[in-house]
Amino acid sequence: MPACELCGKQTELVTASVEGADLEVCSNCARHGTIKRKALVQSYRPKPLPQLPEETVVKNFAIMLRLEREKRGLTQEDFAKLLQEKESIVTKWESGSLLPEVAIAKKLEKILGLSVVEIEKREALLPPKLRNDVLTLGDMIKVRKRK
Ligand SMILES: [Zn+2]
Repeated sequence: MPACELCGKQTELVTASVEGADLEVCSNCARHGTIKRKALVQSYRPKPLPQLPEETVVKNFAIMLRLEREKRGLTQEDFAKLLQEKESIVTKWESGSLLPEVAIAKKLEKILGLSVVEIEKREALLPPKLRNDVLTLGDMIKVRKRK
């Protein structure tokens, strides 16, 4: 029976990553480290998500659009012509019941000189080092040595 490299317990072991080094440890010790599943360690590398930020239409689009029309002194009908859209669509945009697609919003940006498309940062873009908040096996070893 193999023995855990941390506590010496003779039991079924798993591979856990400790500051770059792999250790064979029991499941109890492994809970505090980064467990690697043996079969997957070598072959499985998750592909990073595409780093493209997502573009969205601003939340106050309806208000911005209405203010812009009022500033120009246009009726919704004239405004719709200017935007090359149906009046019924423009009415929905202004009431907030409909948001234009990003591509259309960009067209409106060009026509009106407004900024109605924003970049939305996704959580996937957060750096992975946040995971280091968890107590690692390395910390466990340091604690043991102090005793
Ligand atoms: Zn152990």
